[in-house]
Amino acid sequence: MNCLGIETTAHTFGVAIVTDKGEVRANMKDAVQIEEGGMIPAAVADHHVEVCGTVVKKALEKAQCSMKDIDLIAFSQGPGIGNCLTVGTFVARVLASLHKKPLIGVNHCIAHLEIGRLKTEAKDPVLLYASGANTQVIALEGGRYRIFGETLDIGVGNFLDQFARYMGLGFPGGPKIYELACKGKNFIELPYVVKGMDLSFGGILTNLKQKYDSHQYSKEDLAYSAQETVFAMLLEVSERAMAHTGKNELLLGGGVACNVRLQDMAKQMCRERNAQCFVPANEFLVDNAAMIAWLGTLEHKAGITTPVEQSKVLPYWRTDEVEVIWS
Ligand code: AMP
Ligand code: MG
Repeated sequence: MNCLGIETTAHTFGVAIVTDKGEVRANMKDAVQIEEGGMIPAAVADHHVEVCGTVVKKALEKAQCSMKDIDLIAFSQGPGIGNCLTVGTFVARVLASLHKKPLIGVNHCIAHLEIGRLKTEAKDPVLLYASGANTQVIALEGGRYRIFGETLDIGVGNFLDQFARYMGLGFPGGPKIYELACKGKNFIELPYVVKGMDLSFGGILTNLKQKYDSHQYSKEDLAYSAQETVFAMLLEVSERAMAHTGKNELLLGGGVACNVRLQDMAKQMCRERNAQCFVPANEFLVDNAAMIAWLGTLEHKAGITTPVEQSKVLPYWRTDEVEVIWS
């Protein structure tokens, strides 16, 4: 069985074809590039409209198949930017009704977790999902992926991107902050904001901007200190979620998890508590359509489909609203 998955929650328009055995036959994408400023929802949606046909075609070519060989259409129904989700949902509905295929709308955050379980040996992990808009620590408890801790304001990726933009480094800022941080030598004390199991990055960002404007610190030291501080916060919450749930696996997900320093810190934390740390390849950490196709496949096998009248976008769809009947 082949599932065609569509990802469009934010910057990336992705199309993938995945078999029910978990073989990724194609995982194509076109992500919007921005020189100045942030993502403007309508402009990103325009980008997705422009590229959608080409990306679908490329995925079918890569997988060497046609729509006849596709058995199921999955799409990211939420959470995400409404304008962007609308494009993916529209393409999914058109393909499903034109080619008479079942349709299934999946939750983007859960898809990050399930592709990690497919691509690594992780069985029942705590997921540290660190991306642009989202930052959540998630684990399966009582039939749902519960959120044990999350950001109270912006996502950690958004924090890195905004700081990079402030320093004139462009978007996406995560990799640029990483490069600078590698050259940083002096740790500068910054606010450390963990509230219970939740996190906040807005105040740290303001503090960093003030320090940058004061010209007393180098960009390198600021980038290094920003990373050390917020990654320690992420891992403190992840470690407590592991202790609380008794789980001994940590899985990383989201674009920020491409950061090698975060990966090293996560591995060290796991080593110290005799747990295992799993990191999928970058292609499956960042937003990608393979994860949407794979979660669609898992849910379909469990008997779930999404009737067209229930396929409207869900920009605020929470991870713990989904009943997990496929695991
Ligand atoms: P996502 O929304 O999951 O695609 O993640 C996007 C976020 O990941 C953005 O904030 C990027 O700056 C960040 N990011 C992407 N690649 C890297 C990388 N190699 N190192 C650090 N951050 C990254
Ligand atoms: Mg994501």
